[in-house]
Amino acid sequence: MAVYVVGHKSPDTDSVTSAIAYAALQKAMGVDAVPAMQGEMNPETTMVLNKFGFSAPEIMTDGAGKTIVLVDHSDLAQAPDNLGEAELVGIIDHHKVGDITTNSPILFNAQPVGCTGTVLKQLYDINGIAIPKDVAGIMLCAILSDTVMFKSPTCTDADKAACEALAKIAGVSDMEALAMEMFKAKSAVNGVPAKDLVFRDYKDFDMKGKKVGIGQLELVDISLVAGIRDDLYNACKEVKADGRHTVLLMLTDIMKEGTDLMVVSDDPSIVEGAYGTKLDGQTMWIDGMMSRKKQTLPALQKAMGC
Ligand code: MG
Ligand code: MG
Ligand code: MG
Repeated sequence: MAVYVVGHKSPDTDSVTSAIAYAALQKAMGVDAVPAMQGEMNPETTMVLNKFGFSAPEIMTDGAGKTIVLVDHSDLAQAPDNLGEAELVGIIDHHKVGDITTNSPILFNAQPVGCTGTVLKQLYDINGIAIPKDVAGIMLCAILSDTVMFKSPTCTDADKAACEALAKIAGVSDMEALAMEMFKAKSAVNGVPAKDLVFRDYKDFDMKGKKVGIGQLELVDISLVAGIRDDLYNACKEVKADGRHTVLLMLTDIMKEGTDLMVVSDDPSIVEGAYGTKLDGQTMWIDGMMSRKKQTLPALQKAMGC
């Protein structure tokens, strides 16, 4: 039976490209593996796959009866449904260890680096498998995306070194131009329903029994959302009304390197306390905030008593 390699819900570029890259590595090692994703691709990922000649992986949202490797997450809330009825055989990740447990030993490789792509580069090297040119291209894109072209506090020297090596293999001479092409694709908000934008890069977390959702829109210029702020706020309210204590939407300006944080919460003062800033209407500007994983999430978890 084929092994499904799948990233988290609300797939991002790392989630999709890591599924493809790890499935390719498995195949090169004689394992029948299929890349999958849990939803439609965002505009950035679509651009990346087109550029390097890949078609979209199949959509897989129910793990029951399947053999599965998870990439780019280890949280049940982000994994396929019915994971308990799947045979989980591996996790390759770069986030905090989540709440998934297993009955048998599995391959577990999670490292404190900026991207799953960086961990996969190592796995190719360790196994002595040459990375195909097109696969190197999408792995490079994933690292540039997750580290916001090395600007995110999650970025490590290992990520930069992996990018240098992958760019050579992929024949990419100008990483910055490639990153800008991706960021422009990522910034596309015109004509997209506000709720889809909230869910474009979105994760739910359990904080002491309270459900908290954090979405992020990474924009080359925050003024791109100037005309749709009320729509986004109303969409956040709708999402919150669906059983959540708090919904945050990070409106991140990649160039200014900060985030205007939209807050809808049963207790906004907790969120203000978490970031030491006061809300100015619907949002508060937090200079230097780029990373949900390393900045937004841990500060809120602490404030929520986790
Ligand atoms: Mg991800
Ligand atoms: Mg990632
Ligand atoms: Mg991200």
